[in-house]
Amino acid sequence: MIGHQKLQRQLAQNEAHSLILEGTAQIGRRVLAQWYAQLLNCKSPVGNQPCGLCVSCRNFAAGTHPDVLVVSPKEETSTGKKARSSIIPISAISASHDTGKDHEIHVLDWLETAARYRHKVVIVDGASFLNESAANALLKSVEEPPHAARFVFITEDISGVIPTIVSRSVRYRVAPVPDVELERALPEQPPRILEFAAGRVGWVLQAERVAAQLALVDSLLLAVKGDLMDAFSAADAFEKGFERELSPQVLRFALRAWPMPAQVGADTALTRAVEALERYATPNLVFSHLALELRAALGVSG
Ligand SMILES: [Zn+2]
Repeated sequence: MIGHQKLQRQLAQNEAHSLILEGTAQIGRRVLAQWYAQLLNCKSPVGNQPCGLCVSCRNFAAGTHPDVLVVSPKEETSTGKKARSSIIPISAISASHDTGKDHEIHVLDWLETAARYRHKVVIVDGASFLNESAANALLKSVEEPPHAARFVFITEDISGVIPTIVSRSVRYRVAPVPDVELERALPEQPPRILEFAAGRVGWVLQAERVAAQLALVDSLLLAVKGDLMDAFSAADAFEKGFERELSPQVLRFALRAWPMPAQVGADTALTRAVEALERYATPNLVFSHLALELRAALGVSG
């Protein structure tokens, strides 16, 4: 694992049933949670690290460990439509509440049987997406986990997690990985990638994906300064390459090179565009409008 050595040492000492890993997306929270689950189940850890050789560790490496369950918000509903809002509903927690058969595995039912190795570990990736009934359904198990199970709740923002879960968990803050450590582990990264990543190791590991977005955004920001038709075709290219998780961030990052008042206007326009996309406005109109607003922010007329 890259970075987080101090946190690994803390987690290796952790004895709480339930813990929260709080930190920005792409910072390494999921990798840490998996590492922790691997360590808990390793037959013969070496210091604070899983051995990598035992049957349990080999299951982890193959991605087929029977004692780890990752729960995350579903993007699609059972009817195949994109979910309007991402939540982890009670139907993911308990089979008896899953009348629509939306989920293959349910947390409470999964916890009914003992671990194949040592500890079953439930990783809730997106704890703030647990709605109230889902969180309440989990509470008893979080308090007294059956068969010595463990819970790891991952969140960007602790204030979004239901307080009854927070109060029953030990909190760990996952900090950005310092650039020197990133450079040591992943040498020869373009400075702009490191600057964008700001310690989020996941983005450095996906440097090519970030670089492609930077190129797309750079041509958009160049085109909006010029001819209107060029601006529209750059907006069109941006639409085609748009990634909800990454593109708005990359655009905001590139906008830092703009003078202050223009930056503020552009930022507002981007926020509105993202909101419109979430409301399923026609993407083509949203991106054309964004191009016009970026021009307006810069004071380019027409
Ligand atoms: Zn092992």
